[in-house]
Amino acid sequence: MVDTALTRTATSTSGCETADFAGFPAGNIALLQRGTCDFAVKAANAEAAGATAALIFNRGTTDNDTTLLGTLGEPGIGIPVLGLSYDAGVELAKAGTEVRVKTDTVSEVRKTYNVFAETSRGDAGRVVMAGAHLDSVPEGPGINDNGSGSGTILEVAEQLAKQKNLKKKVRFAWWGAEELGLLGAYDYVDGLVENNPEALKDIEAYLNFDMVGSPNFVRFVYDGDNSLGTGVEGPAGSAQLEDLFVNYFKSRKLASEPTAFDGRSDYGPFIENGVAAGGLFTGAEDIKTDEQARVYGGKAGVAYDECYHQACDDIDNINVQALDQMSDAVAHAVYTLSTSTASINSQAKAAKGAQRSAKSVKVTGEAHGHSKR
Ligand SMILES: [Zn+2]
Repeated sequence: MVDTALTRTATSTSGCETADFAGFPAGNIALLQRGTCDFAVKAANAEAAGATAALIFNRGTTDNDTTLLGTLGEPGIGIPVLGLSYDAGVELAKAGTEVRVKTDTVSEVRKTYNVFAETSRGDAGRVVMAGAHLDSVPEGPGINDNGSGSGTILEVAEQLAKQKNLKKKVRFAWWGAEELGLLGAYDYVDGLVENNPEALKDIEAYLNFDMVGSPNFVRFVYDGDNSLGTGVEGPAGSAQLEDLFVNYFKSRKLASEPTAFDGRSDYGPFIENGVAAGGLFTGAEDIKTDEQARVYGGKAGVAYDECYHQACDDIDNINVQALDQMSDAVAHAVYTLSTSTASINSQAKAAKGAQRSAKSVKVTGEAHGHSKR
């Protein structure tokens, strides 16, 4: 046991400091609790102290009471590191318990790809981007998360290729390694920041579609103006992009509601760098309320997507009605933005650069994949 009081807490610093391992008998297995620092820090400290494995159990608080599913972020730790539930941690901590760890895992650097396509028509200096991640978690095929978004923008791209009246260029992005921490989108945006900042400024808006066919769906629109107060207020233009979707749904007599604009998908790197962003979402592991069931149908008290990040996120895990409504909204937004000369982010555009970096926001949320902490 490494500096853990075996209480249900969100603020354990177990294993975060090397001093926690003073007197740790090398060759033993370190039992740690989640909290305060990254799993990678706890694991590295354990390895340095001579531990042969690190077992990290969950906080035990109501929102973190299941088996811990985390990520070390990148290869480099030389011992097995496993996540446990709080109860399993308490069980193992009992006096006289003997623990053996056997794992069969792979940890290595791999290559992955982003896929881009853009319209031949439209002003290359005024780009509208639409993106969706192509990868899934290892646990399942990822058809709702995120075959739904990927397929949607593919269809929109095919239809848009026929349009001759584009005023702005539309660039489609199918991101790699979103679930590992938005790696593909960060690679693209950071690459522009470093090598081609003008091309970054040319992007007037980025639209993100990550899960748009959830079986027990709600029509969520990214909260670009932070009216919920739970995320961040997006760069100039983000509120207008929210309005574009909300007004579309209104015109079809369909209800919608805001969802936290917290940067937990591929739009994160864009809003960190001052690009207006928006998008749609039909819900993941959170539970549908009675009110939402009344408005959208489906089942109250059940997750929007019970198969989120699981093997059952297969072709049967798509609500066709939701996908149809959401993909129409995607097509409407992309078409409206790209066929108009109006500026989406007029304030930001007026003083490119200075204004934009001032409006940039720091995203602190984790990708909706596995947490690092
Ligand atoms: Zn996703």
